[in-house]
Amino acid sequence: MSTPQPTPSLQGSCHCGAVRLTIPFVPDKATSCNCSLCRRVAGLWAYFEIGTVIVEGDPEHTADYVWGDKTLRTIRCKACGVVTHWLPLVPEPGARHGVNLRNFEPSLLASVQVRRFDGADTWTFLD
Ligand SMILES: [Zn+2]
Repeated sequence: MSTPQPTPSLQGSCHCGAVRLTIPFVPDKATSCNCSLCRRVAGLWAYFEIGTVIVEGDPEHTADYVWGDKTLRTIRCKACGVVTHWLPLVPEPGARHGVNLRNFEPSLLASVQVRRFDGADTWTFLD
């Protein structure tokens, strides 16, 4: 008999805990992107409608990074440096934003299908 698995917490945080995120549900899929930024921060992105993720500690404990075509800001903890999420620079109604699932329990990640995205070159999924 297998042991029932406890439901993973929907709350994650940066390493030091200053920035905390609560997602509305466990996503089916996450994106691992190889673009010049994502491969460095090791982001594993799930996307949620803006406003559905509870973010605590932002902006008082965060810093932003904007690059490339300057459409979004990548947000990290000022204290521990961990990238927690990104937001569009101009959030439009209904738009989604990315949350870095690496800040959540490994048991949550275990149920998520990771898709590899070629953001460096072809801008398509590799699977
Ligand atoms: Zn931190």
